[in-house]
Amino acid sequence: MRIFDPHIHMTSRTTDDYERMAAAGVRALVEPAFWLGQPRTSPASFTDYFDSLIGWEPFRAGQFGVRHFATIALNPKEANDPRCRPVLDLLPRYLDKDAVVAVGEIGYDSMTPEEDEAFAAQLALAVAYELPALVHTPHRDKARGCERTLAVVAESGIDAGRVVVDHLNEVTVKLVRDSGCWLGFSIYPDTKMTPSRMVELLREYGTERMLVNSAADWGRSDPLLTRATGQAMLEAGFSDDDVDKVLWRNPVEFYGQSGRLDLSDVEDPAAVDPETGNSILRGGS
Ligand SMILES: [Zn+2]
Repeated sequence: MRIFDPHIHMTSRTTDDYERMAAAGVRALVEPAFWLGQPRTSPASFTDYFDSLIGWEPFRAGQFGVRHFATIALNPKEANDPRCRPVLDLLPRYLDKDAVVAVGEIGYDSMTPEEDEAFAAQLALAVAYELPALVHTPHRDKARGCERTLAVVAESGIDAGRVVVDHLNEVTVKLVRDSGCWLGFSIYPDTKMTPSRMVELLREYGTERMLVNSAADWGRSDPLLTRATGQAMLEAGFSDDDVDKVLWRNPVEFYGQSGRLDLSDVEDPAAVDPETGNSILRGGS
């Protein structure tokens, strides 16, 4: 099973996680810029963080044969802090980089006027830089948050096929499906969405435009839940090809729209010994 995790915050994970993910078939991932728990008090903190997302983390991932890409943005939560607003002016410098495959995470946290402004400004950047956009939906008041999100996306003029609306559940799936945007689902151990509920949604809505991620942030989370979802799909009667579409070809198609998704040196997990995780092609070691 080859896996592309389209939304995972590796900054909050250990090196052991990279090792386990590689052994489970994760060959590529996208790490979106988000909040770091401790509120940042100046744009310089963001510069260091963004540099880490396109420098240090890809290096850490590369040691385990995992290709690392990033999305860059001022996240919705910190868009409310006037000290962080100038981050919007830093973004163009990063949106030009090869390792950056989308603008994100943008969208709403508490749906304030400040968030409105930052969201619209960053959708405009996505259009200007011809990049896809990764949109976070609020965890509270989900249906209303999702409706408003889709209205802002439509107003921005960005092609719906270049937008993924993330953290969906049974309440919001249909709204987003009808909008033409891509659908993102964050699978968690005990909140938001589980592998079995995800399988039900795939049964009902099919595999088109569906993206499954493990998010793996500061809360209780598990970077192997993409794999667990693939396994749950197989047990429910989906084919290997269906699993490959959801866990690999869909994220490749979505982020491929950036024109920057270079996967040429990614190893085929079928050529890896499942017992040892060693390459069969290279004769192991
Ligand atoms: Zn996230």
